Amino acid sequence: MRGVFKIRVIGNIAVWLRTSIKLVVLIVVSMVLVVGAIVLFYQPTYEVSLNGEVVGYTSHKSDLQSRINEYISSKEEKNLAFAQVDAMPTYRICLLKNDVVTNDDEIYDMVTGNGTKYYKYYAITEEKKEKLYVANLKEAEKIVDSLKEKDSANIDEIGIVEKYDTKLKEFTSVEESISKLYEERPIVTYVASNYSEPSASNYSSGTSSSKVELGISLINPVSGIITSRFASRDSVRDHAHTGLDIGASEGTPIKAAAGGTVTYSGNCGDGYGNYVVISHGNGVQTLYAHCSVLHVSEGQSVSQGELIAEVGETGNAYGTHLHLEIRKDGISYDPENYVY
Ligand SMILES: [Zn+2]
Repeated sequence: MRGVFKIRVIGNIAVWLRTSIKLVVLIVVSMVLVVGAIVLFYQPTYEVSLNGEVVGYTSHKSDLQSRINEYISSKEEKNLAFAQVDAMPTYRICLLKNDVVTNDDEIYDMVTGNGTKYYKYYAITEEKKEKLYVANLKEAEKIVDSLKEKDSANIDEIGIVEKYDTKLKEFTSVEESISKLYEERPIVTYVASNYSEPSASNYSSGTSSSKVELGISLINPVSGIITSRFASRDSVRDHAHTGLDIGASEGTPIKAAAGGTVTYSGNCGDGYGNYVVISHGNGVQTLYAHCSVLHVSEGQSVSQGELIAEVGETGNAYGTHLHLEIRKDGISYDPENYVY
C-alpha cells in the first residue's frame, strides 16, 4: 500500500510540473510574439510641438532633428555662418497612434521658416568706415597686403572687420578693391619754413618771363613732377623763383639738357648744394641744383642726354628735387618755355 501511494504522489507531481512548464513556455512564446509584432509592425511615432503647440507627427524623429541641426549650422549656402530658429521642436512619444499622418517636411519648413540666417563676411574699412565687402579673410588680407606693397597713402587707416549679419552684402573682387582703395602718396611739397632759395646772384643778373631764342633745343633733364614754377612767389622764398623745380626721388639720373661744356661742378655753399652749370655757347647756360651726386667735373664736355648728376636734397632744399635754371647772357628764363 505504501508503495502504491508513493508512486501516485510522484505521478501527480510529475503531471503538475509538466503542466506548469507547458504554461510557462506558452506565456513566454506569446510574449515574444507580441513584442515581435510590435517591433515588426509598429514604428514609434512622435507628436511634435512648437512653442507648446502640436504641429504634427513624425516617425523619423532623429532624421528630422538632424535636418534641423544641419540648417542651424548651414554650410551649403555661401557665406552662411549659421541660422537661428525661433523655437526648437519638442517631441512626445505616442505609442498608441500608429495610423497618424506624419508630415516631416511640413514640420521642417515650419521650424526653419521662422528662422534667421546669419552670414559671415569681411568688411574693408578706411578710417573705421566700411568701404567694401569681400567673401573671406584670405581675400581681405590679400587686399591689405597689396595696398601695403604699393605703399598706398592710406595704409595706416585700412582695417579688416569680421561681419555677422542677416543680410549678405555685395562683394567686390580683390583687384577692384585694390584699385578702389589705393591712394597715391602726395608728392613731397615744400613746407613753409625759414627756407629761402638763393637768388642766383653768382650767375644771374635777373629773371625774365619773356622767351628768347636760345638757338639750341633742350631735352628734359629728369622725369618728375613740377613742384614749383619759375618766378613763383610764396612763403618759402623772399624772391621770385629763378628756376623750375622738378620733384623726383633721390638718385634719379639727371641728364644734360643739351650738349656743352661743364663750367661749374661742386658746392660753394650758396644754397644750391651740389650743382652743375653747363655752358652751351652763345651765352646760354643750364644749371642743375640740389644734386646728391655729381658725375661731371669742370672743363668736361658733355653731350645731350649724358648723365651729369643725380637728384638729391643738398643745399637749401625741402624734398628731393632738381632745381633747373636756363639762362642767356646772365638772365634766367622760364624753363617751361623750353622744356616740360
Ligand atoms: Zn628751385
